[in-house]
Amino acid sequence: MCDCDVLTPDYDESGDLMCREIHLKAKRDVACVECHTNVPAGTGHYFVKGKWDDHYQKYSICEDCHAIGEYFENTEECFCWAFGDLYEELREHEFISKQDIHPQLEIINTNKNGWHKYRLKPDMQETC
Ligand SMILES: [Zn+2]
Ligand SMILES: [Zn+2]
Repeated sequence: MCDCDVLTPDYDESGDLMCREIHLKAKRDVACVECHTNVPAGTGHYFVKGKWDDHYQKYSICEDCHAIGEYFENTEECFCWAFGDLYEELREHEFISKQDIHPQLEIINTNKNGWHKYRLKPDMQETC
């Protein structure tokens, strides 16, 4: 465990974390909370619902961002991110910067504002 200040979900009366994550197909277009990319209706993505600090929240996360988060959580000592902060955390660890990106990441898209969308390199996804 590290002493990062990341908010964990609240507990219910039986002591379970109030946070559920499901993988589903979008019924309508949704925006990924991490990369802000549109997830078109019919596309698989992750939907997270829970209660943090007495507030109910829900988040939609695209498969690319979800895979990135999972990969670094499993391979890095202190990759602690709150929903919406994945890219912030990647920058903090210097996995993405202006000069350099982590060897396991690749840019798949750049929008008109110069915002890059990343994903894990496909061979990395298969091995984990
Ligand atoms: Zn995303
Ligand atoms: Zn940490």
